[in-house]
Amino acid sequence: MTEIDINLVQAHIEKLDMIGKMGNGGTSRLSYSKAWRQGQAFVTMLMETCGMTVERDAIGNLIGTYLGTEPNFPYLMVGSHLDTVPEGGSLDGALGVLTAIECIRTWQIAGYRPLRTVKIIATVEEEGTLFGLGCMGTRFIVGEMTMEKFAALHDKQGKTLAEYFADNGMNYEALAYSSIVPDEVFAFLELHIEQGQELDLSGEPCAIVTDIVGIDRHWITIQGHANHAGTTRMDRRRDALVAASMVVQEVYKAACSSQGLYVATVGAFKVTPGATNVIPGKVEFTIETRAAHDETMENVHLEILKLLRQVEEKYNVKAMVNERRFAPAVHFGTTISEELSKAAMDVKQKVKKMPSWAGHDSKIMARITQCGMIFVTSLNGISHSPEEATRWADVEKGLKILNQAMKRIASIPQC
Ligand SMILES: [Zn+2]
Repeated sequence: MTEIDINLVQAHIEKLDMIGKMGNGGTSRLSYSKAWRQGQAFVTMLMETCGMTVERDAIGNLIGTYLGTEPNFPYLMVGSHLDTVPEGGSLDGALGVLTAIECIRTWQIAGYRPLRTVKIIATVEEEGTLFGLGCMGTRFIVGEMTMEKFAALHDKQGKTLAEYFADNGMNYEALAYSSIVPDEVFAFLELHIEQGQELDLSGEPCAIVTDIVGIDRHWITIQGHANHAGTTRMDRRRDALVAASMVVQEVYKAACSSQGLYVATVGAFKVTPGATNVIPGKVEFTIETRAAHDETMENVHLEILKLLRQVEEKYNVKAMVNERRFAPAVHFGTTISEELSKAAMDVKQKVKKMPSWAGHDSKIMARITQCGMIFVTSLNGISHSPEEATRWADVEKGLKILNQAMKRIASIPQC
């Protein structure tokens, strides 16, 4: 069979990266933009060259179909996202699309057709840049989005999804109908850069992803009393900021001593009134925790509540969780994980097994089908940046596993 050509993948990545290239070296290929349209045209051309028929679904996911010998069997879907963050790197998302296409290129030259049809997907708006809603393309596929939810979306300038659709000559009303029937999807595979530093530090080039961590977000308010910063004695103060800073410190310390079980971040923080001569009366902030096990996040949640009671008592303030949003961890099933492990053995590649600490389209697709992911190294753990990089030798290793896993999974007969 024709060999995987890593130089060709590199050339395609570099070409796609030039579309939407900014002055600082970053790439902005935001969904529904001119760069996105040009990127889609480039990917369409690559797919068609490999004998795939290409269509775009109602929301703008690009899907190339390579027919199997049993086209009525549920199909294998493989891919990742085509959009980037503003001024992002060349690999996040794009690598998963272009490596999948490279596999099909070699299949077509060799005249190889698996049992099951394989569909390569380049999803839209995974990064959530436009509306703050990540994985919008796959949320549409799994049937999570209603017309009410679409109608509520608008960007920072107030521009709606319907207006973005109009810019692109896309039919907004068609969003009422999904093009994908969940039962027709057999499995979903995604190759992605790790975006963390685990692989780079361990010296292993690739990993099979076991889970995608859950995310538990809290919006917290600490209410103290704003008063004169000169005339209010220290023992009479109800300083909301001092109380909040204890929470920040304790949450950080606890996560540091969890031995990698979970991570916790205070990412947004607002002090009111925020003046040099006024004791802070109110502080609003967020705490986000991520873990591969839901029980871990639940325990941390209870610890946060306990901590809030402690600061209330210590600083004479009121501390409350106004809102909590909990997205459970996703555990990839054994069938696809085993096929990925066997594929790695077939190509004599040692792999690490690890959870993903970032969200991906696979996390959403797992609601309707069995999923699997392959990670390749992110040098220095850098991503969402023009400095994002992976050794091409590492990409090649991950790609060989992907190719073998696609063959294996697309050859699983109907049970
Ligand atoms: Zn990504």
